[in-house]
Amino acid sequence: MRKNYLLTPGPTPLPPEVCQALGKPIIHHRTPQFQAILKEAGEGLKYVFQTQSDVFILTSSGTGAMEAAVANLLSAQEIAITVEGGKFGERWTELCKSYGVQAEVIKVEWGKAVDPAEIEKRLKNNPDIKAVFTTLCETSTGVVSDIEAIGKVVAKYNAVLVVDAISGLGAIDLKTDAWGVDVCVSGSQKGFMLPPGLAFISVSKKAWDLIAVSKSPRFYFDLKAAKKAIQSVDTPFTPAISLVIALVEVLKIMKQDGLDNIFKRHRIMADATKAAMKALGLELFAPSASSDVVTAVKVPAGVEGEKLVKTMRDVYGVTIAGGQAELKGKVFRFAHMGFIEEFDIIAGIACLEKVLKEAGYVFKLGAGVSAAEEVFLRK
Ligand SMILES: *Cc1c(COP(=O)(O)O)cnc(C)c1O
Repeated sequence: MRKNYLLTPGPTPLPPEVCQALGKPIIHHRTPQFQAILKEAGEGLKYVFQTQSDVFILTSSGTGAMEAAVANLLSAQEIAITVEGGKFGERWTELCKSYGVQAEVIKVEWGKAVDPAEIEKRLKNNPDIKAVFTTLCETSTGVVSDIEAIGKVVAKYNAVLVVDAISGLGAIDLKTDAWGVDVCVSGSQKGFMLPPGLAFISVSKKAWDLIAVSKSPRFYFDLKAAKKAIQSVDTPFTPAISLVIALVEVLKIMKQDGLDNIFKRHRIMADATKAAMKALGLELFAPSASSDVVTAVKVPAGVEGEKLVKTMRDVYGVTIAGGQAELKGKVFRFAHMGFIEEFDIIAGIACLEKVLKEAGYVFKLGAGVSAAEEVFLRK
């Protein structure tokens, strides 16, 4: 017998209401019944995105919406800024390259957040820059960017601001309209507490003006087709019907909870996790900008990072994530996003302590759990 805990930055655990919704018989999508569901999903997404613009539902993982953003906004040879402070920032650059878009890369040291002034400097120097591609929460390092400040900068120029909010939306605040985010992309398997398979994308008026003249090839991810379909409460292709039905359930839960409560819950869980790590004598990878979504922690000397993650998962059923790319073996990432509650965190910390102890790392057993509980008691 084994109980599994999923504490990874996607996929995240599913609430029971979602599992039940996923088990419902399939229905046809070109029906008034599904249209009502699609309409409700669209309204709920606007609430979570904090936007008045349409939010399109694509059938793909989150990267599909990233690709849709690049393919619809830009043409080959055009110039865009990409902010690279980790693996997902690099994805923007790779996508731009795939479409022949010239990426002006802002390299940010992994573990640090981009300085909005650096973006401003580049925009000022080059009025031909058409778009700025950023990341709300850089999941590979746990760093959160100051999108509000970046939005203020980009709003002064012709460029559009595109934010990869795949791992942050529905967990931490992102005011799409108020902060001047022109295109916001997300996915189903992180803050949205669904299985992977849906991507979401919102598009502002300023972004539609670029889409109107973009010449990049696209078909499945053509946002003009999606816009035309949404006007008659439809989708251009067969949607992932069951996932959309489950999405409506999730959006009901999120609406009931309220965004402020959701953000507060994530903050408390992040605080408890970070307090626990500190009490165990562990160092955060990104102390200056560590998000409420996922906490990256340096693997202490003498402990094998990959083995730590593997033992927690294979021996004890607690899945956290290891480091990616240059951080492989050097950090572990403890996610506290979505359908996660205080005792999931306690279980995760307790397991971490057990495996660290077995690995010979010296600390007072229970120190992490105790520190986390103190945070939960004070909340
Ligand atoms: C998970 C993640 C992605 C990739 O999403 P997929 O669903 O795997 O395509 C992109 N960006 C960020 C910040 C992520 O956390």
